[in-house]
Amino acid sequence: MPYTKQRQKLIKTCLAMSSSGINQGTSGNISCRLDEEHFLITPSGIAYEDMTPDQIVTMALNGEYEGRWKPSSEWRMHADIYKVKEDANAVLHAHPAHATALSCLRQDVPAFHYMIGITGTNIIKCAPYALFGTKELSKGMMQAFGQGNTCLLSNHGMTCFSSNLDNVLKLAIEVENLCRQYILARSIGTPALLSKEEMNAALALFKDYGRQE
Ligand code: 13P
Ligand code: ZN
Repeated sequence: MPYTKQRQKLIKTCLAMSSSGINQGTSGNISCRLDEEHFLITPSGIAYEDMTPDQIVTMALNGEYEGRWKPSSEWRMHADIYKVKEDANAVLHAHPAHATALSCLRQDVPAFHYMIGITGTNIIKCAPYALFGTKELSKGMMQAFGQGNTCLLSNHGMTCFSSNLDNVLKLAIEVENLCRQYILARSIGTPALLSKEEMNAALALFKDYGRQE
């Protein structure tokens, strides 16, 4: 079976997504880029604990796929990201409790904490509502990313992308943590927001943050 290592890593990341508490059941989907035209993606509607490497689907950006397993219903979101975002090598879509709660209010998450900078910009935008699996949902998502790598999807959940599977999982966990902190802060008052200058300073530090010589 081609790409066995990548298939195993994809399933490992799915299981870690569930055990981290940011997802459950068959909600959500994960993919990783193979080359300029192809990516591997989780099959539709199969629980992560039951998923086997042969069920991971090899897809082309135009929607063609190999084998008998149907790709995630959200394959358009994944394909559209790989088509446009050159630095995206992994995509994660999930329904984490706090991010999803905010998405139901159809509200953006502003710069209430400097860690918003891990999304590459100073706001997590919420895309308009559209039926799951549709091109319309993917279009709204692409617009909501702006210069960043994360967005909420109204009455649904969140999607983010990064340079590899480990990093996309870390990003999704941090985003869910930020959403939880934002809900907590809003439940006791009105959070003070960081200015553009304050966020720019944090974004500049993020470029080398965690890089040890
Ligand atoms: P799939 O099982 O088809 O990936 O769908 C899960 C989901 O989250 C749809 O938005
Ligand atoms: Zn979903």
